[in-house]
Amino acid sequence: MKYSVNSLCPCGSGIKYKKCCQPFHNGKLPKTALELMKSRFSAFTFSNVAYIIKTTHIENQDFTIEIDNWKKDILEFSKNTSFDKLKILEFVDGIEESSVTFEATLFSNQKDISFTEKSTFYKVDGMWLYHSGEFL
Ligand SMILES: [Zn+2]
Repeated sequence: MKYSVNSLCPCGSGIKYKKCCQPFHNGKLPKTALELMKSRFSAFTFSNVAYIIKTTHIENQDFTIEIDNWKKDILEFSKNTSFDKLKILEFVDGIEESSVTFEATLFSNQKDISFTEKSTFYKVDGMWLYHSGEFL
């Protein structure tokens, strides 16, 4: 699927990308972990590797100082995957820790690799970051 700034946002909000997740990709800070989560999903769709890295908590299992390899992995994953649908099942908001449970419909080389995950986010210096995920 090809997206442009005038397409509906891949996060499933029903509004245009340029009025939804694009401002976050351009530097605006998401107010909640839910906004952050959705903007990361959109970032994968657009292969926005820098945004994925920027919003990953240092304790995340993917976090590595070997940034070039990490970038390559994210890029490969996002290029080979179509991010068809995001459905939010639950959002538990908190001051410094939040969780989002979601269903992601993904296909990689025509193969269904959809999953349901409960993600945990921590707020660090005013910025929500993806800490970890648990498959359900
Ligand atoms: Zn969006």
